[in-house]
Amino acid sequence: MIGCMACDLTAWRDELHGGEIGRTDAWVVEHCVGPLGVGTLIIKPVRHCVGLWDSTDDEAADLGPVMR
Ligand SMILES: [Zn+2]
Repeated sequence: MIGCMACDLTAWRDELHGGEIGRTDAWVVEHCVGPLGVGTLIIKPVRHCVGLWDSTDDEAADLGPVMR
């Protein structure tokens, strides 16, 4: 999605310091950008979502194993 920094980082349209750490079909694990800096990790959906309430049942079921 144009104008979404999270999606730009996921799609490598913007520089991601530290790179991608892990990925499933639904989720990607990356270093956080911004004030928390490299070393702080973020789990975010592969597709554009505004919040967890936008997750499909399959995405929600996959989140626990990713967090573990
Ligand atoms: Zn997005």
